Amino acid sequence: HSGFIAIVGRPNVGKSTFLNRAVGDKIAIMSDKPQTTRNKIQGIYTTDDAQIVFIDTPGIHKPHSRLGDFMVDSALSTLNEVDAVMFMVNATQKRGRGDDFIINRLKDVKKPIYLIINKIDQVHPDHLLEIMDDYRDSLEYKDVFPISALNGNNVPELIQQLIADL
Ligand code: GDP
Ligand code: MG
Repeated sequence: HSGFIAIVGRPNVGKSTFLNRAVGDKIAIMSDKPQTTRNKIQGIYTTDDAQIVFIDTPGIHKPHSRLGDFMVDSALSTLNEVDAVMFMVNATQKRGRGDDFIINRLKDVKKPIYLIINKIDQVHPDHLLEIMDDYRDSLEYKDVFPISALNGNNVPELIQQLIADL
């Protein structure tokens, strides 16, 4: 069980926080500012029988410049080189244009895509069901995981499933 998994999602959904929790080291810079992590930062999760290389892919969002266009293309090409993609969204916010921009780009990616609904520590269970419904049919997801990257809720279960599927 080993492979490469890319994490995509709007700025501030919790990609770096997840990476730090999954891998245990402070390998990605955490910040409230969008685009703090401009480059692919890799965290390696290793156990006796499994290894996942996580790739933080912060560049996939609506570009504001030609440099931005280049970054989106470069991030998208990464997605075709990995074994699976985690698409992370924010449970505290409605699905918006930033999410839809990414969803439209992911339609061309022929890899298993996991929908990760993060920050569930901040939402009521009823609201979580609404958010899951909002996204459920946006792509053909391999699996859907509500998690809290901050407090770790459901993160070990997610990692176990990723490993099982690799
Ligand atoms: P990124 O831009 O997607 O890498 O997002 P970050 O990992 O930098 O997180 C953005 C902000 O959201 C930070 O203030 C994090 O502490 C916060 N955050 C991330 N995950 C969670 C979570 O599961 N719950 C809560 N309450 N906050 C979170
Ligand atoms: Mg980040």
